[in-house]
Amino acid sequence: MFKLPVCPHCRTVYRYKDTKNAILKKDTECYHCHQQFRIKLFPYVLIEAAVLIAVCIGVNLLILSRLSSFDLFPLFAVTIGILLIVIVLIPFFTHFIKVDKDQKKSQKKRKK
Ligand SMILES: [Zn+2]
Repeated sequence: MFKLPVCPHCRTVYRYKDTKNAILKKDTECYHCHQQFRIKLFPYVLIEAAVLIAVCIGVNLLILSRLSSFDLFPLFAVTIGILLIVIVLIPFFTHFIKVDKDQKKSQKKRKK
């Protein structure tokens, strides 16, 4: 589960940057074989987020139990940090799956 996605057609492993670009630009054509695929973020990214949010709550409770004065800054810092980790790790939980309809389209395109 914890790995970068591969093209479902040619098995090209996407690099971190390429995966991020594919998600952001919704570019669903493989740079290697030019076939279409679908970007599947769920449920894997949801599981990732749920696990890290659970960690976040745990750490926050731990900090709260050790704080002598009520100071929100450490809680805020931990929460922001974990949110950043969630975002940074998204490409590792992304999967690419085949789309049959679009596959035919791109094959037509290539004949031109
Ligand atoms: Zn490919």
